[in-house]
Amino acid sequence: MKTIDIIVPCYNEGENIDMFFYETQGVISSITGYSFRYIFIDDGSCDDTLEKIKGLDNHVKIKYISFSRNFGKEAAMYAGLRASRGDYAVIIDADLQHPPGLMAEMIETIEETGCDSCAARRVSRKGEPRLRSLFARAFYRIMNRYSDIEILDGAVDFRMMNRKMVRAIVSMPENQRFSKGIFAWVGFDTRWIEFENVKRISGESKWSVWSLTKYAIDGFIDFAASPLKFVGVFGSVTAIGSVLYLVIEILKTLIMGKDIPGYASTICLILFFGGLITTVLSVMGEYIGRMYMETKGRPIYIEKESNIDED
Ligand code: UDP
Ligand code: MG
Repeated sequence: MKTIDIIVPCYNEGENIDMFFYETQGVISSITGYSFRYIFIDDGSCDDTLEKIKGLDNHVKIKYISFSRNFGKEAAMYAGLRASRGDYAVIIDADLQHPPGLMAEMIETIEETGCDSCAARRVSRKGEPRLRSLFARAFYRIMNRYSDIEILDGAVDFRMMNRKMVRAIVSMPENQRFSKGIFAWVGFDTRWIEFENVKRISGESKWSVWSLTKYAIDGFIDFAASPLKFVGVFGSVTAIGSVLYLVIEILKTLIMGKDIPGYASTICLILFFGGLITTVLSVMGEYIGRMYMETKGRPIYIEKESNIDED
């Protein structure tokens, strides 16, 4: 019998755990030929998430890892994948925004097509703030155009993968992780299934406007070196342009004699180059900052408590 690990990142989901478990159990009890195991990741919750996980009816295998603080969903997903031993692993949100029913469809797709991975994609952004969907769309467009990878608009982290793909992902040691990019980067044959957006059952999304913006910039920089090239080209074009301008001015002075000195244009140039240099430096700074964080080689998460090794 094949085994499937259900990986659930949870941050302050105390109110949702029971409902999530109930729904998921309903779905997997009707799937035959597979045995399931849960791996809950308590991502430093400050509510009763961990107690709720421990209190679940354990006639099924329930594993958990609890972090020493909040390390973010990326770290939680990584911890889950690392702990996974099953033939397949599926990552799913605890707030029921990823309909557990789709797991049956994912298994079917994998069985029928023999693909390595089956992922879910939201076809509508109903119930989501307008501004957020607008920015999300723009993000995907820029990302796909200028980075090394292609991410489908609406792709979520809800995805079932075989052991080979899980191993490839776990072997990527980077500290600042952007899973949507990593899934695409490792390759493998991926099929997509579509679903309508659902509202979370209770509690609030952990994403603020600021954290989403940061997530988008991080994701882009992690998979794109093009901003560096862009500012490089921009810088050299303006530098060449300014030399040409200087030559023209010198010739003009030699031929037509001295003009009235132009303070305005001088100041304009100084400001322009000041701005240009700052822009270039700050883009480089983003990359260097990342290199600095990566060279520290800090662990992606720190465990406080877990029952992974117990049996
Ligand atoms: N999550 C997590 N750590 C965090 C933030 C979120 O493990 O720092 C989990 C959260 O409990 C949920 C999933 O990641 O199961 C998705 O989070 P959320 O619903 O806040 O994101 P959204 O659905 O709005 O994208
Ligand atoms: Mg959610």
